[in-house]
Amino acid sequence: MPDKSARRQSLSGWGNYPRHDCFVHEVASQAEQRSLITSTDSQTLIARGLGRSYGDSAVNALNDVLLQTSRSRFLSLSETGLLRCEAGLSFAEIIEYLLPRGWALPTTPGTKFVTVGGAIASDVHGKNHHQCGSLGNFVQAFRLLTASGDVLDCSRESHPDLFWATIGGMGLTGIILTAQIQLNRVETAWVKQETRRARNLTDTLDLFAKTDQDYQYSVAWIDCLKRGNSMGRSVVMLANDASVSDLPDRRQQKPLQMKKRRRKKVPFNLPSFTLNRLTVSAFNGFYFRAHRDKESVVSYDEFFYPLDSIQSWNRIYGKRGFIQYQALIPKQNSFDGMHELLELISKSRQASFLAVLKSCGPADDGILSYLFPGHTLALDFPFKGPRTIELCKQLDEVLLKLGGRIYAAKDAVTNASTFHVMYPRLEEFLKVKRQIDPENVFSSSQGRRLGLIPT
Ligand SMILES: Cc1cc2nc3c(=O)[nH]c(=O)nc-3n(C[C@H](O)[C@H](O)[C@H](O)COP(=O)(O)OP(=O)(O)OC[C@H]3O[C@@H](n4cnc5c(N)ncnc54)[C@H](O)[C@@H]3O)c2cc1C
Repeated sequence: MPDKSARRQSLSGWGNYPRHDCFVHEVASQAEQRSLITSTDSQTLIARGLGRSYGDSAVNALNDVLLQTSRSRFLSLSETGLLRCEAGLSFAEIIEYLLPRGWALPTTPGTKFVTVGGAIASDVHGKNHHQCGSLGNFVQAFRLLTASGDVLDCSRESHPDLFWATIGGMGLTGIILTAQIQLNRVETAWVKQETRRARNLTDTLDLFAKTDQDYQYSVAWIDCLKRGNSMGRSVVMLANDASVSDLPDRRQQKPLQMKKRRRKKVPFNLPSFTLNRLTVSAFNGFYFRAHRDKESVVSYDEFFYPLDSIQSWNRIYGKRGFIQYQALIPKQNSFDGMHELLELISKSRQASFLAVLKSCGPADDGILSYLFPGHTLALDFPFKGPRTIELCKQLDEVLLKLGGRIYAAKDAVTNASTFHVMYPRLEEFLKVKRQIDPENVFSSSQGRRLGLIPT
């Protein structure tokens, strides 16, 4: 039975699909978390940050979910930029406090509304993956509350297997209580951006290959409804941190002052007919035409978090929600793989807004970490029941054929056998999980679906 402090609540990830009733606990202290974990009548449980994973990673149907957002204190910052904080602290709070003081996160996902714990559990990556890899490279240590109630200090030297099973381990090894992350020094709160239009997939991939060395950050917004010679046409954004001398004169006095942004809001779920092939195609065409090749200096928020300017943008997909499908294709197969994925999507007649394409660098040592050298494409599909699930299955088959994989933080529908082939180190993960959590206290809807819980 759930304990009395829990409230029954319908929960989903950012994609609003799938949705399940869970027993949600808001626990602030470590002692409360420990007593929940070790109490004999407790069901399985999973930690939840800001719920920005898209599927059911932080959902635990008819079981317990432990909200971490009230554990959000800064603990210390060393002179060299080593941040110690509680794991419920968000990237938005870190940026708001530390960017004006000249410290930036070493890498960041496309939203700043994620917690440190959630970011480590997904081993998130950003627009600089091709140069510096994912967050795991910058996590020096964390403190983990385990299924036995013990708290372990994990790092590359101390409990290294558990350290690398937890980075990218989707919350299934325990609860990250605090973390130490190495930040970067920056001169300004701006980046120097070059916008370039690419006519098709070949041009887009060529542009990445030619510029990966010279630009810290890169991303392409692809129009995935185009076919024929224009298939894979995109707007590519390349950027480096701006120095003070890159800024216009009026900004040079206060280079670390962040530009204020007004956030718009989608007030309610839009009806599903609002998004169809015609409207999406019109939007994609407008986006492409609105961008010209140019250089500009762009604020940190505008460059890293364009979607954060619209609060609750996930409501545009309506009540049934949407699936974000993120595919990684190894470098040697990038062109063929992307081509095949785009063909399938275009033929499926399921509209996807601009998709995001990134080039990826070396993998880190996370046992279940997502990226390795190649290209990753993130697509949004409005959820239309079995049709959408079938499309994802077809896309999975392309990935299986070409040695690719999906990203667990985005996944909502993949099955265990597919995931096992995509992640050849899964047995290693399950071995650590058996040792640290023999009773499978930590579990989630996704964990059960993907076979991440040993039997
Ligand atoms: C608009 C948008 C853009 C995005 N762009 C990117 C991107 O560019 N790159 C990228 O990598 N990701 C991206 N993401 C995904 C996002 O970064 C990850 O899903 C991240 O994990 C979300 O953090 P959260 O705090 O919301 O975690 P949640 O969604 O709440 O949880 C995610 C996982 O972390 C675990 N977890 C949470 N807190 C803890 C804790 N304290 N201890 C142990 N486990 C914990 C949960 O159990 C769950 O398995 C994007 C998401 C959105 C909505």
